[in-house]
Amino acid sequence: MRYLFVLVLLSTPMWALEGLPALHNPITVVVSAERPLAPEAMKELQAEMANLLKQGNRPVEWKRLDEMGVGVSVSDLVMVKFRGDCRMEMSPMLLDERGPLAFTHTTDGEVLPFSEVLCDKVKMAARSAMHGGQIASGNKLMGRALARVLAHEIWHMTANTHKHSKTGVAKSSLSGAQLIADTLEFDGHSAHQLTQKTAR
Ligand SMILES: [Zn+2]
Repeated sequence: MRYLFVLVLLSTPMWALEGLPALHNPITVVVSAERPLAPEAMKELQAEMANLLKQGNRPVEWKRLDEMGVGVSVSDLVMVKFRGDCRMEMSPMLLDERGPLAFTHTTDGEVLPFSEVLCDKVKMAARSAMHGGQIASGNKLMGRALARVLAHEIWHMTANTHKHSKTGVAKSSLSGAQLIADTLEFDGHSAHQLTQKTAR
């Protein structure tokens, strides 16, 4: 499949690389979680990730870690681990929003395709922005928040940068309200960077 990717890249005409619509290689997201996500969260996570990566014309394929045996070959791989408990709590929570929501591993300044999403931090941020009836669909909104945090980390990988944009999903910090808002997108430049390959 790696070989296939090279062929696809070489056969991609220049106009496609200039940002005109062309379907790029899928990103395969390999997921593991310390605690299982709620089904509503998983559904919304996948829907919102598809929505966000569509901005870079990247389809998303999902795999569980246990599906990745020897001989399984994928073209553009991202490993993500959901740490802590991603399930939304309906009762009031003690909110502490300090610290990052996720981090991505790096070596010698290169961004590696391994991310850890800190569920308890994302949950606190998302929960702090929920009002009234939103709490009843808390797991769905949690899935949306997780998608935006993960898409942000994947953008770091494709852009191969530690820097941030000034607006949108690639901003340095996303508020609870932005994590659960009806829409939040990448700015145009960052969306274009999503077309690049993750693993180098
Ligand atoms: Zn970042």
